Amino acid sequence: RFVSIEGGEGAGKSTVIHALRDALESQGERVVSTREPGGTPLAEMIRALLLDPSHEPATHETETLLMFAARAQHVRETIVPALESGAWVLCDRFTDSSYAYQGAGRGVDEALITMLEHECVGIEPGLTFLLDIDVAAGRARMHSRGGAPDRIESEREEFFERVRAGFMQRAEHAPERFRVIDAAQAADVVAAAALTALKTYRS
Ligand code: C5P
Repeated sequence: RFVSIEGGEGAGKSTVIHALRDALESQGERVVSTREPGGTPLAEMIRALLLDPSHEPATHETETLLMFAARAQHVRETIVPALESGAWVLCDRFTDSSYAYQGAGRGVDEALITMLEHECVGIEPGLTFLLDIDVAAGRARMHSRGGAPDRIESEREEFFERVRAGFMQRAEHAPERFRVIDAAQAADVVAAAALTALKTYRS
């Protein structure tokens, strides 16, 4: 019942989360939708620290540790209690984002990420959607809806290419958990593909 939604900037994660949520709720399921970094008051404060441009940039290791600090809190305070109560949890990003952004993107040693995952997270989604989109197309979408242009502008094209490849590598290593969806398609086509995959997963 633990589902994560992953993808780069402008991939359309929110649209898919709404569609999944509506579908589950219309079938009488309880749904907790949450996001990373964030998902509890403390973890949202860590998110704000990470995204705040007013202080010096976090080192890659600092960024990694803060991501996992937020995730450890999120898992214990929000995700596990929700799962134990019988709800579905739809999580906008989870540990795969750390492998993609901090690992593949920033070059943080994958062994550190694996260690933090084992020691501080301990759970993994049963189903992960990877919304895959060409870096330039995702960027164009972010611009068209006015989202986070400064952050996007400041990061290099190659960084996002590495992140995209990092996600793909995760998906290739865990094909039973991942459903990769071509997010360049129209939003309703992407949502329909996600709903079909969810139905298959449940049956
Ligand atoms: O999912 P969302 O786009 O809201 O993520 C917020 C920001 O945090 C994004 O700019 C994303 O690139 C960044 N992020 C990150 N490492 C993660 C998760 C998110 O750099 N593990």
